Amino acid sequence: MEFEPVIGLEIHVQLDTQTKMFCSCPVEFGAEPNTLVCPVCLGLPGSLPVVNKRAVEYAIRASIALNCKVHELSVFARKNYFYPDLPKGYQISQYEQPLATDGWVEVNGKRVRIRRLHLEEDAGKNTHEGGKTYVDLNRAGTPLVEIVTEPDIDSPEMAREFLETLRSLLRYAGVSKADMEKGQLRCDINLSLRPKGSDKLGTKVEIKNVNSFRFVQKAIESEIERQTRVLSSGGRIIQETRTFDPSTGLTHPMRTKEEAEDYRYFPDPDLLPLVISREWIEEIRNSMPEMPHQRYERFLRDYSLSPYEAKVLTDIKEAGDFFEASLSFYGQDPKLTSNWLLNDLFGLLRERNLSLEESPVSPEKLARLVKLIKEGVLSSKLGKEVLAEMFASGEDPDTIVEKKGLRQITDEDYIMSVVQQVLNAHPNEYQRLRSGEDRLIGFFVGQVMKATKGKANPQMVNKIITQVVSQ
Ligand code: ADP
Ligand code: ZN
Ligand code: MG
Repeated sequence: MEFEPVIGLEIHVQLDTQTKMFCSCPVEFGAEPNTLVCPVCLGLPGSLPVVNKRAVEYAIRASIALNCKVHELSVFARKNYFYPDLPKGYQISQYEQPLATDGWVEVNGKRVRIRRLHLEEDAGKNTHEGGKTYVDLNRAGTPLVEIVTEPDIDSPEMAREFLETLRSLLRYAGVSKADMEKGQLRCDINLSLRPKGSDKLGTKVEIKNVNSFRFVQKAIESEIERQTRVLSSGGRIIQETRTFDPSTGLTHPMRTKEEAEDYRYFPDPDLLPLVISREWIEEIRNSMPEMPHQRYERFLRDYSLSPYEAKVLTDIKEAGDFFEASLSFYGQDPKLTSNWLLNDLFGLLRERNLSLEESPVSPEKLARLVKLIKEGVLSSKLGKEVLAEMFASGEDPDTIVEKKGLRQITDEDYIMSVVQQVLNAHPNEYQRLRSGEDRLIGFFVGQVMKATKGKANPQMVNKIITQVVSQ
């Protein structure tokens, strides 16, 4: 029997606020442990939480970016459990009445429905070292949104593409850097198999906290294999929580349904229901930053880029930002700028395994290079040489052109004198060209380029030879 995978994701995203969800402690990564804390985020008796309005605004923006319905009334609830990184003994979350529901994200023409998006606070962090465990509560109380999809994802690749799209939407909405490596986006995977074509759901397994795009894809691939093996040999999948071990590429059991915790959710008596006015939601909707599909349309319209170029430059927000920053300097030639960015600079970055943020070539330097090419100072061949040098040394293109004497030769008198020399040096070919053997033009252009070490402007060389010959 053939099986097909059914996948739903639960994603936690850290909101990019200055302060925590229910107190004014700063949100900061890498500070001295337990320095960014106060009675509220330490959960000391008698302290009271106060909702961070900016976090609510960001959560609404995220909801709009994911096409969700934002509810005017939602309720904070206590999720009760004990763990050393949770001194209050409960996490403030939303349960029965979440902030937003019923959204969708489009991935390669297919829709992944978003079941819900709710606000909550993060816990602290435990570090295990040399047989001891250390607790750092700086992260406790950091604002998060949890996003839950419907089980609409049907392959490991689609899961990865969904997460990449989600990250891009959240970055565009300006609510989170959503960097998985920094833990700003964390993903739990729910996966079951069913006979191909069936519309019933099989028993699912949950894989907790997978922390990179690549591992998400790997974990799903390996879990599909495992479940296929179990089902094909007549076994049954038990509902359980598993973890993914990146070193072996396998998933391992963590706890079964019977051991699952009962969180005893109830509305938090310290917090009023979250009431949001229609007006505020509309105000946020109307002030949403440009989203990827809008930018794509604008790039096609305003810059006459190809659909492929526009897609690459909007899928990766940083690439589009770099492109537009570069255009802002001299404003000329979006097409040429896009070519040099996507083909040449991206190529160099890939070779060195660098991200765009780490590029030694800034948007302004790329703009100057494009300007030199546009003005004919550099041929495209010399342009590549200069870019490689810019990349290696971080210098600006003008300096490199002067230093290496790379400036393209556009001096007509000078080119004319080289043409004369070359014609004189090849009297036979010259005669044949004069008597109509046109293809010899190529030969003479080549000779002039050789004599000028590739620096003469080829169009001018061509023009001048044609002139001389027809005289
Ligand atoms: P639970 O009650 O175990 O938390 P939920 O119904 O709340 O399960 O769903 C949690 C996540 O698991 C959602 O993303 C949902 O799409 C996904 N999911 C639910 N049932 C299945 C299934 N049978 N196979 C795969 N994913 C599922
Ligand atoms: Zn605090
Ligand atoms: Mg659930």
